[in-house]
Amino acid sequence: MKVGVLALQGDVREHRAALLEAGADPVEVRRPDDLSAVDAIVLPGGESTTLSMLLESSGVGDALSASLAEGLPAFGTCAGMILLARQVVGGRPDQRSFGVVDITVRRNGFGRQVQSFECDLAVEGTGPVRAVFIRAPVVERVGPDVEVLATVDGPGGPTPVLCRQGPHVVSSFHPELSGDRRIHELFLSGLRH
Ligand code: GLN
Repeated sequence: MKVGVLALQGDVREHRAALLEAGADPVEVRRPDDLSAVDAIVLPGGESTTLSMLLESSGVGDALSASLAEGLPAFGTCAGMILLARQVVGGRPDQRSFGVVDITVRRNGFGRQVQSFECDLAVEGTGPVRAVFIRAPVVERVGPDVEVLATVDGPGGPTPVLCRQGPHVVSSFHPELSGDRRIHELFLSGLRH
C-alpha cells in the first residue's frame, strides 16, 4: 500500500520510517501530482500555521482538499490533527483546515507548564502505548461520528488524544517518535476493508 507523507515541513523522516516498519510503502508528497500515486496520506507534526502557508504556495493544499473530498484516508499527528480538524481555536484566521474530522481543537491547548510531556496511554483495543506530546492541541469537542480511542487528563478533565472518523485517524501526540508502530498499524488496518 502506497502511503503519502506530506513532506513540506515537520517530522517527515520519522513517519516514513514508521510506515515502512508497519508494512506500508511511504511516498513523499511535495507537489500536487504526487497525490495521484497514493492510497492514503499522513500529515505530520510541525507547525500548522507554517504547514498551512506551504500547502498554499505549493498548490498541494487544493489538490489534497480535492483528494480528501473523494475519500482519501488521512492520518494527522499533532499539527496534522489541527489541519484535519473541522474547527481550530487559537489558530491564525487564515490557516487551512481540511475539516474531514468533526472535532474542535485548541492549538497549544495543554498550557505553558506542560507544553511537552510523555505518558502511557490506554488505547482502545491496543493496550498501553507510550505517547510523546509536544505543544500539542487539545480536543475540545468531538462530533457524533467520531470515535475516541484514547484520552489523557487535560486542563478540563479527560481529553481525547486519539480519534477516528471513518478511515481517518488523528492524534494530538507523536506516534512516530516512540518507536512503537501500533498507532500506524491501527491507521493502516482501517484501510484494508
Ligand atoms: N503547536 C503546533 C501547531 O500549532 C503543533 C506542534 C506539533 O506538531 N508538535 O501547529
